[in-house]
Amino acid sequence: MRILVIEDDERLGNEVAAGLRSAGFAVDLAPNLVEADLKIAVNTYDCLVVDRGLPDGDGLALVATKRQAGQRVPVLMLTARDGLADRIAGFEHGADDYLVKPFALPELVARLRALCRRREQPTPAHLVLGDIDIDFPRHRVVRAGILRSLTAKEFGVLELLATRAGTVVSRSELIECCWDEMAEPASNVVDAVIAQLRRKLGAPPVIETVRGTGFVIGHQPFAP
Ligand code: CA
Repeated sequence: MRILVIEDDERLGNEVAAGLRSAGFAVDLAPNLVEADLKIAVNTYDCLVVDRGLPDGDGLALVATKRQAGQRVPVLMLTARDGLADRIAGFEHGADDYLVKPFALPELVARLRALCRRREQPTPAHLVLGDIDIDFPRHRVVRAGILRSLTAKEFGVLELLATRAGTVVSRSELIECCWDEMAEPASNVVDAVIAQLRRKLGAPPVIETVRGTGFVIGHQPFAP
């Protein structure tokens, strides 16, 4: 899951980015509308976190423009104003949710996960692939009855492969979805995480390499 945080308060922006990264999201930061626009044009985001008061305008204007252009990416507004009129204006311009500053990071994480689940191809809360049981909201993976301890990054990669089980996911798609700009990932970074995942998930192997293309989990999933 890759998130764009549009926030001009550097300290708050960095704090939010660090918190979201430790919760397993890939996070890019934009301090103003111009940079946000550039990043949205070149990257694919699962959700936007948008501050209203930005140096070059109101974050809500960006949301309205994106909606008019037919973009359906989920949007969570961050706002210092908690007036009813502001909240209603947010929803009318296409925001999906909002948080009033100051907010608790765990609430932001929970709201973003909920927003990402509500997208067109929602991530199920729970998925079973062969003998692997994945609980997305709790980041828990159990295989053959044994809890596998994964890092946030390993979980993010598994999540993408698992929700697309049966379909090959390319290295560039993995990088696009699971790494942010700060990471400057080389292809061998992806291979290293895949190798760790395979080691932790144990035998028989579930993640297959498709030479020259990417990776696939062959099992057919079913949501219990
Ligand atoms: Ca601001």
